[in-house]
Amino acid sequence: MSTQQDPALCAGVELGGTKCVCVLGTGPADVRAEVRLETGAPTRTLKDIEEVLSQWRARHAFRALGIASFGPADLEPDSPTYGSLIGTPKPGWDNVAVLRTFTPLGVPIGFQTDVNAAALAEGLWGGAIGLASYAYVTVGTGVGVGAVVEGRGLRGLGHPEAGHMRVPRKAGDDWPGACPFHGDCVEGLVSGPAIRARTGREAAELPPDHPAWDTVVHALGAFFHNLTLSTVPQRILIGGGVIAGQSQLLPRIRAALLTSLNGYAQARAISQPGREFLASPRLGERAGSLGAIALAQRALRADG
Ligand code: ADP
Ligand code: ZN
Repeated sequence: MSTQQDPALCAGVELGGTKCVCVLGTGPADVRAEVRLETGAPTRTLKDIEEVLSQWRARHAFRALGIASFGPADLEPDSPTYGSLIGTPKPGWDNVAVLRTFTPLGVPIGFQTDVNAAALAEGLWGGAIGLASYAYVTVGTGVGVGAVVEGRGLRGLGHPEAGHMRVPRKAGDDWPGACPFHGDCVEGLVSGPAIRARTGREAAELPPDHPAWDTVVHALGAFFHNLTLSTVPQRILIGGGVIAGQSQLLPRIRAALLTSLNGYAQARAISQPGREFLASPRLGERAGSLGAIALAQRALRADG
């Protein structure tokens, strides 16, 4: 039987660039239902999600909803476009009011980017428990960064888009990169689509010793150098399909980071034995959808 202290039953939606994951539960040990949908055109996709949620609401009376969305998105609660996708390059999705679609459910709604939600879940239940400052980075269809600084998600003029930072190129590599905005920014060099554009093959099909991985390791080493020295995280968790699917990369990226720092400043703390500075998310693939549940629970608390 449930008591007042039990975490509330909530619904969460991870709205991804290629798939959506709807979950019903109270936390990682208690996920009661999960439905995966393909992300297609916005009207159809949001209607499919809405149908899943309406059924759950009717049967299980969940108390709040969390949405963990791809971005860029408006995260400012006071803004007229709060909860909308703003400036997303994903065809058809720019200016789509995601949050507003779900207000007819009549429950409090939390809205964040997918990486911010994943960071929240890792802080509550995963690999960043007890850390005040850390980052969650995904390397998949794009490169996303959720940075928590002194207990709060970093934001200001929007949310961080650090995946689009520029880094020095590996000597001799002059491939122009695949980012439609910047060419050879980090995302333009290391995302799954970038690897496919460079090699003509799916990233998953490349052998672990393919030279394309050398350029990925070089760019990510420099990227984590910049992220470490700027937001001073106590740990960086790295998820996403490219990293999860290539187990040889993480040790190489750790080495590239240390080579790049060259003993400077945070290098000593990072290389302490047992430190696990660059680590895999402990919630694995579930970080985003569980983050959506955490967002819902936060929205419920804020609602009083
Ligand atoms: P999303 O970014 O849409 O949330 P993922 O994090 O799963 O999704 O990332 C998808 C990307 O991961 C695709 O571009 C795909 O090419 C790449 N990917 C999937 N499996 C592997 C693998 N085994 N090795 C390298 N890349 C992979
Ligand atoms: Zn870019």
